[in-house]
Amino acid sequence: MISALPVYYCVEFLDHDTGDHPENAGRLTSIINAIDKDLVIGVVELRDPRPASKGYILLNHDDSYYEMIKEEVAALSGGSGRNLDPDTIISPGSFIAAEKAVGAGIDMLHNYYGTTDENGKESRAIALPRPPGHHAIANRAMGFCLFNNIAIAARAAIRDYGLERVAILDWDVHHGNGTENSFYSEKEILYISTHQHPAYPGTGRSDEIGIGDGEGFNVNIPLAPVSGDAEAKYCFASVIMPVLEQYDPQILLISAGYDAHERDPLASLTFSTQTFRWMAGTVDKFCSERGIPMFAFLEGGYDYTALAASVIETMRAMRGEVDPDEPEYLHVMDNVKRAVKETQSALSNNWKFS
Ligand SMILES: [Zn+2]
Repeated sequence: MISALPVYYCVEFLDHDTGDHPENAGRLTSIINAIDKDLVIGVVELRDPRPASKGYILLNHDDSYYEMIKEEVAALSGGSGRNLDPDTIISPGSFIAAEKAVGAGIDMLHNYYGTTDENGKESRAIALPRPPGHHAIANRAMGFCLFNNIAIAARAAIRDYGLERVAILDWDVHHGNGTENSFYSEKEILYISTHQHPAYPGTGRSDEIGIGDGEGFNVNIPLAPVSGDAEAKYCFASVIMPVLEQYDPQILLISAGYDAHERDPLASLTFSTQTFRWMAGTVDKFCSERGIPMFAFLEGGYDYTALAASVIETMRAMRGEVDPDEPEYLHVMDNVKRAVKETQSALSNNWKFS
């Protein structure tokens, strides 16, 4: 059990200035204020991440793309920001923010695998990076994301620490197309996503299961609008936990977006704060039973109140304070039952489902 949960956060994340864009610095301020108000001192410990080197960022991105982002930000030279694409903004502070957003993941790995002191290993941590990451692909910014923070951490876990089975669970309301794209033909990284469908970015169908060596190691559960607590628990019971148990990961990384919340203005799912508490508690219990580390990376979540409350519940779960009940009878929407069946049958050569 860790004494205080490490929370990777820095002022540079606020300097990625997107103005009145939904993905703005106020999101993090709301979380930090909630930590101050709702959590007692000593429960969490804020950590200033180190900027990731170019070498780390190139684990998942093209050299030319890295240089382009660096030059585009440098060209702003203290002026105002601009759009890289219709969704994604850069400002003068964006490059250092993006380097530290990646660096948080590298630090989390280091603070677990890099120490030989068993008592000093930090097996749980959460990063609050801006810009977020899961839409970023190797050579392109997308959907508010510049570098794919979680994909780089997954690659670093393999290269630096010799891991062979890395699981990524993505409960952001949007499909993490960038992460899927990075690992689509690899079995060393299992990607599992629940997301609203149809919705941005349009990917994430049940039949996207990976190719070649990666076949079966890409798991999508597309959820119809208004899916809520029962549908989330149904996905965990019928797909997510069975696949995780059979895969037997050495580490679990979470793309923790909170835009599936019922209050979120950008999407139409109806998860409650308690749903996020339950999901985080469920995976924390899974990791505790196996003695493996679990690190969360903030992705989306655009209603300040819902975001802050749900992140706090995630933190409580990561401290082992949540005992998630087993879902019993769930009244699940028929279209979600169908989607889950489609996912199960697409993966029937790879995983067993009861
Ligand atoms: Zn999202």
